[in-house]
Amino acid sequence: MKTNSNSREHGAEAASMVVKTKPDAAEGLRELFEDQLKDLYWAENAMTKAVPKMIANASTPELIDALTMHLDVTKKQVTRLQDVFKSLGLKPEAKKCEAMEGLIKEADELMMSTEEGVVRDAAIISAAQKVEHYEIASYGTLRTFANVLGENEAEALLEETLNEEKDADAALSAVAEAINVEAMEKAG
Ligand code: FE
Ligand code: ZN
Ligand code: FE
Ligand code: FE
Repeated sequence: MKTNSNSREHGAEAASMVVKTKPDAAEGLRELFEDQLKDLYWAENAMTKAVPKMIANASTPELIDALTMHLDVTKKQVTRLQDVFKSLGLKPEAKKCEAMEGLIKEADELMMSTEEGVVRDAAIISAAQKVEHYEIASYGTLRTFANVLGENEAEALLEETLNEEKDADAALSAVAEAINVEAMEKAG
């Protein structure tokens, strides 16, 4: 592509930023799709362990309910990803998701940095919504890849989870309304 070759002409500094290709690098969209599925499989599995910690640190019953419901949904999403692998003729495989690991670390850090109660609840919602948005972006992309690749069953399954992640995000926004106001009144 012309823009690419132009940007490469900006000199040695730009050239030094071009990453070194790994031996197992994806050569096509299908391989990229499969790699990102493995990433998401790791991420969803990680969330089945991270959400219980968020629940244990939450105080407002509505937040605990929303997180508990989404934990249940998340466990079903892990199974659904196994179905996606199966529909592609693959065995489920996980590959560490650097982004989700970072989001979970940040959630831990946010919980430790807030007083227990509505302030920590507000922090938990912010961390949980960052996760939902990452998942929405990931499932949206993979659903589109599946469509382009003609993998209709995978596309439908990924779309189903995409909608669940959007619902979870909306539920957290609704819970945040009351909690944020209470947290504001706590100002020390
Ligand atoms: Fe999920
Ligand atoms: Zn990732
Ligand atoms: Fe990012
Ligand atoms: Fe989610």
